[in-house]
Amino acid sequence: MIEDFHTHNQLCKHAKGNIEDYINYAIKKRIDTIGISDHFPYEFYDGLEGIPYEEYGMKIEEMSGYLSIIQKLKKKYKKKINIRSAFEIDYIPKQVNKLNTILDNVKTQLDYILGSIHILFTEKGPWCFDDSRFLDKFNQYANVDEVYIHYYNSIIEMVNTKEFDFDIISHLDLPKKFNKFPENPNKIMDKVLEVLNYIKQRNLVIEINTSGFRKDVKEQYPSIEIIKKIYELDIPVLLSSDAHSPNEIAYKFGFMIKILKDIGFTKLAHFKNRKRSYVDIE
Ligand SMILES: [Zn+2]
Ligand SMILES: [Zn+2]
Repeated sequence: MIEDFHTHNQLCKHAKGNIEDYINYAIKKRIDTIGISDHFPYEFYDGLEGIPYEEYGMKIEEMSGYLSIIQKLKKKYKKKINIRSAFEIDYIPKQVNKLNTILDNVKTQLDYILGSIHILFTEKGPWCFDDSRFLDKFNQYANVDEVYIHYYNSIIEMVNTKEFDFDIISHLDLPKKFNKFPENPNKIMDKVLEVLNYIKQRNLVIEINTSGFRKDVKEQYPSIEIIKKIYELDIPVLLSSDAHSPNEIAYKFGFMIKILKDIGFTKLAHFKNRKRSYVDIE
């Protein structure tokens, strides 16, 4: 079974190809399951001044079309591939109620939800730290470690916010995207262990995201060291490409599966109708 639970499409304005293009490529690549998980809208949040969110996610008015296209394609390709419908949703502190007024209307149509942090709220305003255009803003922190601490504290807040309803944590060590690594790795690893314990408590799944291989950092999210801790803590994982172009589907999955098997993993999580099950790693 090859399953890819994190893909985007042109609705979010920074990915190429429509949903059917992704499905056709996945069928061509003989993938068993493709999760359509484009970026949830941002326009209803307060305090995102300076964030070009029009290029980060779809609009509210596009949500129903997105979901109905997926439903239609699920039927059309039923015999060829499993299609799952999902969103990747940013955790924006203190505005989860606002999110839920929109999300609650469509939740029954979703197979799972990815929870992500792309934006850090600093004293100087919101900062999308994984957008290369704002790379200079790393300097507003005393050092890179402070960025990691802020990021992981935000993840902890996301995980501990019960009202923020999600199933899978995306790209767990995203601040390394542009090769900004911790100055004191032991200190940051302690913080990661704290994060993993909260993830374990809430019984969430962590994605092994291969998009990092296509970025400066040239490795998956999270690092092998973190994946080994995830294994020790018996936290479930699944594979995702975070494809922003159809030909990125299942990117480097063969390589990644071998690494996961070497570490000791024997199964991967799977989602349908917000319910988790497992498939064996072959
Ligand atoms: Zn994206
Ligand atoms: Zn993301």
